[in-house]
Amino acid sequence: MEQYCPPAHVLIFPFPAQGHVNSMLKLAELLGLAGIHVTFLNTDFIHERLVRYTDIKTRFSCYPGFQFMTISDGLSADHPRSLIKFIEVYDSLNSKTKLLLREMLASNQLIGSNTRPSLTCIIVDGLIGGFTSDIANEFRIPIIYFRTISASCYWAYFSVPKIIEAGEIPVRGNEDMDRLITTVPSMESFLRYRDLPSFCQVNDLNHCNLHIFVSETQQSPQAHALILNTFEDLEGPALSHIRTHCSKVYTIGPLHTHLKFRLEAKTSSSQSQSSNNLYEVDKSCMTWLDAQPLKSVIYVSFGSITTITKDKHMEFWFGLVNSKQRFLWVIRPDLVVGEHNRNEVPEELLKGTKERGYIVSWAPQEEVLAHHAIGGFLTHSGWNSTLESIVAGVPMICWPFIGDQQLNSRFVSEVWKLGLDMKDACDRFIVEKMVNDLMGRKREVFMKSTDEMAWLARKSVSEGGSSYCNLDRLVKDIRLMSM
Ligand code: UDP
Repeated sequence: MEQYCPPAHVLIFPFPAQGHVNSMLKLAELLGLAGIHVTFLNTDFIHERLVRYTDIKTRFSCYPGFQFMTISDGLSADHPRSLIKFIEVYDSLNSKTKLLLREMLASNQLIGSNTRPSLTCIIVDGLIGGFTSDIANEFRIPIIYFRTISASCYWAYFSVPKIIEAGEIPVRGNEDMDRLITTVPSMESFLRYRDLPSFCQVNDLNHCNLHIFVSETQQSPQAHALILNTFEDLEGPALSHIRTHCSKVYTIGPLHTHLKFRLEAKTSSSQSQSSNNLYEVDKSCMTWLDAQPLKSVIYVSFGSITTITKDKHMEFWFGLVNSKQRFLWVIRPDLVVGEHNRNEVPEELLKGTKERGYIVSWAPQEEVLAHHAIGGFLTHSGWNSTLESIVAGVPMICWPFIGDQQLNSRFVSEVWKLGLDMKDACDRFIVEKMVNDLMGRKREVFMKSTDEMAWLARKSVSEGGSSYCNLDRLVKDIRLMSM
């Protein structure tokens, strides 16, 4: 008699922030498509916003065995939960949520029921891998880490103990930010102090952010496997180094395109969009874009976390209007810190914006970047935005804000030659010049590399491509664990 083999059942647990939830939901949908049962665990706060702004309930109902569950993040109802308060969110998850997760597993709320198989493994966001691993080990459930950052940034975090040993951090007084960091293998010739992940740019080695990012990263080789949202042709050198420490590394990105292609293959339609927004999307910008000439618009967005002062906001605004280029700008209600009164905006800016600009509070970014009117992207270099721009073949101007973004922007300009790195500058004349360069005379310089990288990205997630095959291997690996 044939032995009964229960379907695999994976618990997916993201860090509660837009970029993390977005990419892990895409992974969840890909596993759902492969027939794996998925329990997706959101914090209550995130889940409430997802349900409010997207159609996730309908979208995921077509995957048998897919369920959403929620858990408290332990924070008070009026806590801003912004990543600026990262430490508070992280500490609360590590103390209060940890206990709740343990309780959920102990009381079989997640492990199994009459209709749902036991958990085969947990795929956890590597940023909260530490406490989840402790619990997974206690219940003898294999754990896989998913990191939402680039492989190169992951490798830089991994190399921090070496950087410290060599005395290259912390900062020694007012020294040159352009000093080369020579101790991250494969980045010796171009990584400057200012390109290190922002959490490494510290003058105190006991800084808690540095400690958290480094210790969470150092733990990952103990996991069963590591999943990265990248592709081999983009980050080969960093990946080879990571593989000397982690035996199983699955590169399955760019996830948004991977999912799109697999959905299209299944439904034979090219209309598949899987948006996972925590904000209300303003689609009116698509109609505005339809009326703009080919590659004439620069899209400006700083993602879901970045905040800027009023002064910096004005520098961007002057730079954009003075460039005389068309622009579509995402200004989240919480982008500008402090009181922001539109009546204070100079008349010339409002006039210039009315003539050539369009402002929304949240855009359907993947669709925007794919629109024929978009010719450039002024971005904060978040990893999702970077990948989305790469796939769309849109050159970038990078203005990194926090975390991995400093390193991503260096790779975009110096290694991949996909755009310009504005880095620490925020000045209307620089913004104007860079926008005009990118939309004008430098466009040709970048188009060859952006076209080529877009092609490689798509190839990786097409049948037979590296990310496509890696996802198949990951699915097989998970199924084997359930036997
Ligand atoms: N995004 C969007 N609309 C916007 C701004 C951002 O849909 O108006 C999405 C974007 O497509 C990306 C995510 O939000 O998938 C932002 O993630 P990223 O890693 O780029 O930056 P973070 O928000 O984590 O800083």
